[in-house]
Amino acid sequence: MKSESLIELCHVSKSFGATHAVDDVSLTIERGAIYVLLGASGCGKTTVLRLIAGLETPDRGEIWLNGERVAGQGAWVPPEVRRIGMVFQDYALFPHMTVRQNIQFALAALDGKLSHAERDRRARQMLELVGLAGYAERFPHQLSGGEQQRVALARALAPNPSVVLLDEPFSNLDAALRRTMREDVRQVLRASNATAIFVTHDQEEALSLADTVVIMHNGKVQQVGAPQEVYLRPISREVAAFLGEANFIEGVAEGDVAHCALGKLPLAVPMHGKVALMIRPEALRVTASAEGNAEVIGIRFFGHDQLLRLRFPDLTELDVRTWGNAELALGERVMVSVRSSVMAYAN
Ligand code: ATP
Repeated sequence: MKSESLIELCHVSKSFGATHAVDDVSLTIERGAIYVLLGASGCGKTTVLRLIAGLETPDRGEIWLNGERVAGQGAWVPPEVRRIGMVFQDYALFPHMTVRQNIQFALAALDGKLSHAERDRRARQMLELVGLAGYAERFPHQLSGGEQQRVALARALAPNPSVVLLDEPFSNLDAALRRTMREDVRQVLRASNATAIFVTHDQEEALSLADTVVIMHNGKVQQVGAPQEVYLRPISREVAAFLGEANFIEGVAEGDVAHCALGKLPLAVPMHGKVALMIRPEALRVTASAEGNAEVIGIRFFGHDQLLRLRFPDLTELDVRTWGNAELALGERVMVSVRSSVMAYAN
């Protein structure tokens, strides 16, 4: 046995012609946790899922599932034997079958040993889990997008798979439904103790869903960590910028502090020499003050909050997120301070 983890990818690569879709990826998936693969379009997220499912074969490297090598070094376990559940953005429910029949079909395909009564019981149990107990006899066209997605999840979880792979499962839903579905699906996965791997290019979705975020770029894994860790301590400027809004200002680091236009700031990770300091807009605090150290030169209003563009005497500019009702006007002087330690990257 390679290890106790559920899935291990060891130096896995996969190319399509000249495109290195997945490039030397090593990744460990622990049981019972929710993972989210996050990255820009084309960075290789879906290919990683397909490799785990057995829908692609790696060019190099090994894949282990439940302590068994399923790909690499001459080993090959076909997808139908891997016991992996999949949910895609288009739901792919059979339109001519009822909700119950859709779920029972998945059970029959994956576990022919179950009796009809057992399949029926399991389908009902799954529909209860996803909050659709009264919907068993409806057809897919009689369901909303969110309900169809929940049926797709019930179908994927019904055969009790070792892992569920979800590729952009919410991308067809409107913004409000997306948020509710995210929370619902998270609860269902928790209740069923499932291990799940989501793919998304939506930062907010990744941070709010995941126990562990895996950030990919150009076929490579850049950083793996808890949402707070990757957001507050991104490993590089690129990861910082990809995960959300970020100000970068020049500074000089001296161990656990840095000097910059904002004064002396504590560093999250000690550094020395010339650096670029990364400060999230919401990590800054402003108060109107005639003796302030910056001037408001732009205001972008979003309702729940607003972004102020500030300019310092040395012409450094940065964005600050404040409550949308903050009474600050263009040209006003403000005092700016930093609420937390900041990250620094060699410049
Ligand atoms: P998206 O978010 O747009 O779905 P992704 O991160 O999931 O992107 P992949 O679908 O894994 O990215 O694709 C990675 C790269 O490999 C892309 O450049 C894509 O065009 C290419 N690719 C993927 N599958 C194939 C294939 N079957 N044949 C040729 N090229 C492919």
